[in-house]
Amino acid sequence: IDPVHVIGGGLAGSEAAWQIAQAGVPVILHEMRPVRGTDAHHTDGLAELVCSNSFRADDWTGNAVGLLHAEMRRLDSIIMSCGDAHQVPAGGALAVDRDGFSQAVTARLEAHPNVTIAREEVAGLPPTVWDSVIVATGPLTSPALSAAILTLTGEGELSFFDAIAPIVNFESIDMGVAWRQSRYDKEGPGGDAAAYINCPLDKDQYEAFIDALLEGPKSEFKDWENVPYFDGCLPIEVMAERGRETLRHGPMKPVGLTNEHNPQEKAYAIVQLRQDNALGTLWNMVGFQTKLKHGAQSDIFRTIPGLEKAVFARLGGLHRNTFLNSPKLLDAQLRLKLQPRLRFAGQVTGVEGYVESAAMGLLAGRLAAAERLGAPIEAPPATTALGALVGHITGGHLEGGKGSFQPMNINYGLLPPVEGIAKRDEAGRRLGAKEKSRGKKLAVGERALADLETWVTGGTRIAAE
Ligand code: FAD
Repeated sequence: IDPVHVIGGGLAGSEAAWQIAQAGVPVILHEMRPVRGTDAHHTDGLAELVCSNSFRADDWTGNAVGLLHAEMRRLDSIIMSCGDAHQVPAGGALAVDRDGFSQAVTARLEAHPNVTIAREEVAGLPPTVWDSVIVATGPLTSPALSAAILTLTGEGELSFFDAIAPIVNFESIDMGVAWRQSRYDKEGPGGDAAAYINCPLDKDQYEAFIDALLEGPKSEFKDWENVPYFDGCLPIEVMAERGRETLRHGPMKPVGLTNEHNPQEKAYAIVQLRQDNALGTLWNMVGFQTKLKHGAQSDIFRTIPGLEKAVFARLGGLHRNTFLNSPKLLDAQLRLKLQPRLRFAGQVTGVEGYVESAAMGLLAGRLAAAERLGAPIEAPPATTALGALVGHITGGHLEGGKGSFQPMNINYGLLPPVEGIAKRDEAGRRLGAKEKSRGKKLAVGERALADLETWVTGGTRIAAE
């Protein structure tokens, strides 16, 4: 059997190589460290954790990333088994001893008879004789390879920074205060005249909001991040620094909108939210990319009328990050439509975080191995956490168009809700909001693990071409 080539021995590449090898297919893993380093890695180890040592919450019944852990464990993940073996105490989270973890991943891959590790940079598009390749080179993909991908995919299809606006769960928005309307009732992205959710601020609320932005603690850039501020994605606090009225003339302009709850009173400023996923469960705060610290963001954004009880699926940020415009470029097999021999995995596909990156490596590895063995399989269904992530990067996002796709962690908003959850307990008592939320998460988790089981046992094989 000819080998599959994996470029990048980080979280995604290590997991992909393991899955391919375990399927009985030879794999060559090309990792440029220590020949060439990155600005964030410090060691030669595979699967190095560059910052925190946490894989986040581990409880599959109440947390989306915990559900992803459970799915990955079911699929023989090397990242999860080495993480479990090198766990350090962290309450309900899975945190790991970073050196022990990375050394274990490296040792297991080095010892696997189907794995060859080549310590070299792939400094351009892989040679055409490599007919099955997984590119898992991460947020700090080397410049030579990024340049080659950019030339292949076209200007604007590979981003070097993410400019992330916060995303709010729809259920947590107070629609007794906010209302749906597109500016001047013109059709918005969903093709209707009520495409946006609007939150009104009066003058005092606006002034207090600007003060909070100016005073709020900001995250600093590292020297090498050197983020250029593009006009289209200035952080809101930078806009506020340029003048107290700047936001009112920018993303918070109050024109072309009438508050249906209070048509007589003109809002002084308006925050708009735009639907962010096809399910309509997630809404992003338009133009609200920010470098404010996460705690400060939640506090300040909850002062916006209608968002007092906002649950944030993601908070805002601005980082150096190399990622593809995946909804346009990748197919459901994570292959580049332009050159299907190239699969992508990890953070470069537009997922965010160690676990999500490893999850996309796991899937790319399984898809590539199955294809190599002549029995291709489909990705898991959208009801699983793995399938939900594939949905996000390959098309679940509403406006797959240029510039609008931004990376995301796994969260319940990406999974379809389970209908018909009980509103009362067995004794007939009405359940409170917390109990209902727990019930919904548990139901989503149980459905995901059951559907994954069907997928594993071969219910979704694609007929060999
Ligand atoms: P990586 O783990 O980065 O692996 C990519 C690998 O490819 C690297 O080993 C690199 O050396 C190699 N490579 C690159 N180009 C080439 C080439 N041309 N040829 C051969 N090899 C190449 N996520 C979290 O969950 N928690 C955090 O706290 C966190 N902090 C972060 C801090 C920083 C500064 C950065 C940049 C990212 C952070 N992330 C964090 C995101 C994290 O990096 C990713 O989630 C995760 O490491 C991505 O996995 P990956 O396999 O896609 O990329």
